[in-house]
Amino acid sequence: MAPFHPKIALVGAGPASLTLGAILTHNNIPFTIYEASTTLRDEGGSLDIHPGTGQAALKEAGLWPQFVKHARPDADVAKVIELKTGEVFWDENGPDKQEVGASEDDQFAGRPEIDRGDLLKITHEGVAEGAVKWGKKLERVVPSATQQPNKHDLHFADGTQETDFDLVVGGDGAWSKVRRLVTDIQPHYSGITLVEFWNKDLRSNDWLLDYVGAGMVMAFGEGAAVMSIRIGDGSLRAYGCLRVPEDFSSTCGIDWNDKDVSREAFVERYLDHVHPDLQRLLLECKDSTTARPLYELPVPFTFEHRKGVTLIGDAAHLMTPFAGVGVNVSMTDSLGVGRAIIAASKGEKDLDEAIEAHEKDMFVYMRENMEKSLSGKENHFAEHGSKEMADRMRDGHAAARAAAETQGKTLQGKAFKLSARKE
Ligand SMILES: Cc1cc2nc3c(=O)[nH]c(=O)nc-3n(C[C@H](O)[C@H](O)[C@H](O)COP(=O)(O)OP(=O)(O)OC[C@H]3O[C@@H](n4cnc5c(N)ncnc54)[C@H](O)[C@@H]3O)c2cc1C
Repeated sequence: MAPFHPKIALVGAGPASLTLGAILTHNNIPFTIYEASTTLRDEGGSLDIHPGTGQAALKEAGLWPQFVKHARPDADVAKVIELKTGEVFWDENGPDKQEVGASEDDQFAGRPEIDRGDLLKITHEGVAEGAVKWGKKLERVVPSATQQPNKHDLHFADGTQETDFDLVVGGDGAWSKVRRLVTDIQPHYSGITLVEFWNKDLRSNDWLLDYVGAGMVMAFGEGAAVMSIRIGDGSLRAYGCLRVPEDFSSTCGIDWNDKDVSREAFVERYLDHVHPDLQRLLLECKDSTTARPLYELPVPFTFEHRKGVTLIGDAAHLMTPFAGVGVNVSMTDSLGVGRAIIAASKGEKDLDEAIEAHEKDMFVYMRENMEKSLSGKENHFAEHGSKEMADRMRDGHAAARAAAETQGKTLQGKAFKLSARKE
């Protein structure tokens, strides 16, 4: 088979497209990314990047050293609290979290966190200069106007067009325009609305610093949850989540534009039954308040294979964050599509056949992860959500300890915790 050098468009510059772009750049394959926003959308949040998926994609893009520099394995620490009583069921904080001398494999074997902004920055830096066209909001993808078989044109909101792509990869997130070419199915409301609170300077608040520890706080109960995650820039993101109707944020009477009034009204009206420490965790995050209804695609979800088009990331498998896997599954897609394009460009495989084979694999692993997210949502928002989570973590640790003992190893401190949390 002759080498094929396809004309490739990636739509969106989120983690999925930028990771794919970095993999292609690493293999000297040209492409263009079209992004609606005028700059990187690096606002807030932290993502945990897992070894066999997100980390594997970064290695394939030649970005492992950059990841090691920015990742925070020390934030891979969980504290699980009963929502009403405030009882701490599980706490991985402790002196051993700073264990010195752990190998790189041990340090990154669990779920090291990285700020979303840092992940976007390192993947963007891995993309060929000038490959991202900013401010290009895709309106629709249509078959090539010159009627070249299986090629497509992109029409943008600014009235411009780019034509005759051999492959259009939709990495344009939850409300993907590219997805419309392969299915009529749209995401539906997940039943959960998340209210995000931000404290920009955690280190100046001793109580909060001590309460939240080094990583995540999780407190689950019937219809409600409180969570927080430390960000590498010294800030804290906290979340109050409720099982409420889709229009909650617009009909509940809270003015979300007023961060102080909305923060207090939300906690007082809807989290009155929550332990005072968990209420305080939210109330001490005074820098912003944002309500976000969460959407998801149905499970199982697949789409018809269409020559010249594919989907990656949330465009292909939007799910709630309650299994903490969305970005990892997205980067696994980048790896799969990247390998298909590399094989075609070397003449080892037909591009369309390789993409179709990848989509078949993706439908299997994305279903598993979407099901995990669905059951995470059900378990977390149940009366004994925290206990169930703490028991699962305890069982994981017991299994890791038993496995280590049968191999004649003694795992301690951070190395032990991380082994217990391997995928
Ligand atoms: C609160 C929260 C916490 C999360 N925590 C985790 C976690 O801990 N671990 C984890 O694995 N996952 C987590 N996720 C999920 C993760 O954030 C997503 O799965 C991931 O961002 C998907 O990346 P993406 O590139 O597919 O889409 P996105 O990040 O949504 O990026 C899509 C890009 O496409 C652009 N775009 C959209 N429409 C157009 C258009 N028409 N034209 C051009 N460009 C367009 C957007 O501007 C954006 O830049 C979390 C999600 C949420 C909401």
